[in-house]
Amino acid sequence: MNQQPGKLEPWQWPEEHWRKLVGHVRAGRRYRPDCWKDGTRCAVALSFDSDHETNELRDGGTSIGRLSWGQYGNRVGVPRILALLERYDVPATFYVPAVAALLHPDEQRRIVGEGHEIGIHGWIHELNSALPYEAERDLMLRSADTLEHITKVRPVGLRTPSWDFSPGTLAIERELGLSYDSSLMADEDCYELMLDGEETGITEVPVEWVRDDAVYFMMNRFQSLRPYTPPRDVLDIFLRELDAAYEDGGLFQLTMHPHIIGYRSRIFILEEIIRHARSRTDVWFATHAQVADWAKSHAA
Ligand SMILES: [Zn+2]
Repeated sequence: MNQQPGKLEPWQWPEEHWRKLVGHVRAGRRYRPDCWKDGTRCAVALSFDSDHETNELRDGGTSIGRLSWGQYGNRVGVPRILALLERYDVPATFYVPAVAALLHPDEQRRIVGEGHEIGIHGWIHELNSALPYEAERDLMLRSADTLEHITKVRPVGLRTPSWDFSPGTLAIERELGLSYDSSLMADEDCYELMLDGEETGITEVPVEWVRDDAVYFMMNRFQSLRPYTPPRDVLDIFLRELDAAYEDGGLFQLTMHPHIIGYRSRIFILEEIIRHARSRTDVWFATHAQVADWAKSHAA
């Protein structure tokens, strides 16, 4: 359906064609509740994408050094994050590729045992838009089954790896009966996802590159990719997002990675965010699934 007609250049596409492309997956009704649970003013949804070794494996990489970086996420990152969440009694959502869950099943059982949510994050962090529909569908179904088998809890939400959403992704999410997605960015409030103009009943909990630690901190030894924003500046950006969400009576959603935020020199960012939100009495810390449910059922 994304084939361009004939050999036309994009500037030659007929209006019908670009309208169909744009309209395929779209934001529908805005889910903006009058207030959040227990009359709170702002919802805070923290998420951690536990990619671990799959960032290297996904690209066919076999670098033992980069695989060890992934293992750091399991050995240091996740335990440090869980300890912090426990200290402040904050629930969060972890998105876990099935291969990472199979490599570290005890980590997933601990996460669920401590009251957090686990959502689908692909099989091996594959890029959905590079896959044929049948392969994407097969991997997504197996990923859901794998997480359920390990944790005994059926996941209800999905974050596409690298937020890479294919033309087939939403239909597969609907087939899986998921209640929400958290990969798209058409709004700051939750909204209903529309597929070719039809309501799907699936809620989007929108993400943003601005609220993603990887954008500021990723590095690659052999490419020019380097962190360029000091940790205190990243905290400042996140705090501004949080304060504005609070003023708005909206949602503050944040994406982090155990092998990125978990370092001694960076974990203070997460703690400061939690402390700042906790300093107000009318903030609701919730999992993404809880936010999606509340937003949809209490939309003004
Ligand atoms: Zn990821």
